[in-house]
Amino acid sequence: MNHYGDTMSRLIAALSDLPGVGVKTAQRLAFHIINMPEENVENLSKAIIEAKRNVKYCSVCCTLTDKEKCDICSDVRRDSKTIMVVEDPRDLAAYEKTKEYKGLYHVLHGAISPMLGVGPKDIKIKELLERLKSDDVEEVILATNPNIEGEATAIYISKLIKPLNIKVTRIANGVPVGGDLEYIDEVTLSRALEGRREM
Ligand SMILES: [Zn+2]
Repeated sequence: MNHYGDTMSRLIAALSDLPGVGVKTAQRLAFHIINMPEENVENLSKAIIEAKRNVKYCSVCCTLTDKEKCDICSDVRRDSKTIMVVEDPRDLAAYEKTKEYKGLYHVLHGAISPMLGVGPKDIKIKELLERLKSDDVEEVILATNPNIEGEATAIYISKLIKPLNIKVTRIANGVPVGGDLEYIDEVTLSRALEGRREM
């Protein structure tokens, strides 16, 4: 089945490899790209290539950045005694939007999930523990998602941190169960943070 020629088919196939993009959406995007001014298409492909080349993990908190150390970790006004642990850079962005939180973050890039074959070594737990050994941290807030994987990850990490004599808290259950943090509104996130409890 090849109604559009090889070049177009390759574009559609490449787009449909993206998460959440089925063949129909891939076709729609491909037709849209073909009809875009050439300059815009060049900007788009350049943005993709540059992001891939330059975006890396912050050497401290593991969020995405194009610097060695991200803007939050480099900001001396932030409270370096508090670290909030999140699953994803998008969760960090959601908490930043609330403008309530002034501490630092640690991004795990996932959650422990035996079902999906994700173990503790597959996410950035080791990096967190290294940080806690050297930095002067007083509280770690576990803000992993309020679903089975997020809870399991929070419990796992809290057991590792407690012997270090650092206070470990978990965000409140104000967040709907099974909800992804990035979709929750700022008020709910602020409340979940305010109502955090010691684990
Ligand atoms: Zn950072």
